[in-house]
Amino acid sequence: MIKVEQAIEIIEANSKKMPTKLISVRKALGYVLAEKIISPINMPPFRQSVMDGYAFTHSIRHQYDIVGISQAGDYSNIKLKSTEAIRIFTGAFVPDDADTVVMQEDVMANKDSILIAAMPEKLSNVRPKGEQIAKDDIVFEANTLLTPAAIGFLASLGITEVEVYKKPKVAILVTGNELIQPGKKLKKGKIFESNSIMLEAALQTIGIQKAKVYRVKDNLKATKKALKGILKKYDIVLISGGISVGDYDFVKEALLQNEVKELFYKINQKPGKPMFFGSKNDTLIFALPGNPASSLTNFYIYVLPAIKNRIGFSEIHKTKVVRKLNSEIKNDTGKTLFLKAKYDETNVTVLNGQSSAMLNTFAVANSLLIVPENIKEYKKGQLVTLLPI
Ligand code: AMP
Ligand code: MG
Repeated sequence: MIKVEQAIEIIEANSKKMPTKLISVRKALGYVLAEKIISPINMPPFRQSVMDGYAFTHSIRHQYDIVGISQAGDYSNIKLKSTEAIRIFTGAFVPDDADTVVMQEDVMANKDSILIAAMPEKLSNVRPKGEQIAKDDIVFEANTLLTPAAIGFLASLGITEVEVYKKPKVAILVTGNELIQPGKKLKKGKIFESNSIMLEAALQTIGIQKAKVYRVKDNLKATKKALKGILKKYDIVLISGGISVGDYDFVKEALLQNEVKELFYKINQKPGKPMFFGSKNDTLIFALPGNPASSLTNFYIYVLPAIKNRIGFSEIHKTKVVRKLNSEIKNDTGKTLFLKAKYDETNVTVLNGQSSAMLNTFAVANSLLIVPENIKEYKKGQLVTLLPI
């Protein structure tokens, strides 16, 4: 049995980056850059007016003759005398001779001239060329996550394709004779299968839209056969259940018989102790406990960072938060506890119902409160560490 920290380290050390591919910027949301991006242009490419108003050369004068017009999209580098201004609109090219734009609300204007009522400071309302980025400067370093804003920025620079890390192909293998598909009639002794649906949803939170779900009965031969095919086709394999020590838990044996390299089995934690992690070629295999809350806990603690590592994130662990504990916690297990908890701006409350099967509690939790294995007690009012989920 290993410690939580060791398990995290082993997973990190074994989750290699995915290969890369060229992708249209339009389809790149949620991907992580595999290359540094250099700006092909200045942005903005020319000096732009920030306002609808008048462009002129700043001086002590308040009155200017209007000698032209510059609409957004126009280009006319009109020569201006010190007594002249042009009508200008937001986003329009500012002629080289003008250094300042006055907003139209601050001007008394007639057809041919303006009188500036409130004189702006010199250089006001003119966006300098290259204000956001200069040509040949770095737009993004490699390993940057492409958010809507990042995609917008790339598009504003005229960039249409970028090199990103591929998303892994993920399979979920569900084990358990007792499981019935939601939507079918529940029979005596059976329960609805929820782990695959829950894990698919958890994968979607990190941009993995689809995972292929396979199902087997608690049977060594069937499990071994299913895994044989799955291990060839996927980058990440999540297995639900059958990894504990019961007479009908065949997952570990089936993995070993498929030449999966065991990297660890069992972690000193509660819930989520019976977990296996292994690899075969570049495929990572996470055999998660069948108990739904354990399964999801271990997904957050172990699977999510591994996927983030594979798809190129530089920060693979969520930032933890510290809050004041509303009650006391005892830990006589000698294990690291992950407690379903709810935190607000100052405090954290441990929720009632911590069993490893309890999704009802998990469903209203916003965090896992971490009690390290060497901590026997937290007192009410003490600061504790949480992993937001
Ligand atoms: P196992 O790890 O296979 O021993 O399963 C532990 C507990 O989790 C048992 O009560 C199972 O019925 C339950 N369980 C296992 N797999 C699932 C699943 N896919 N959906 C819901 N509950 C499950
Ligand atoms: Mg089972």
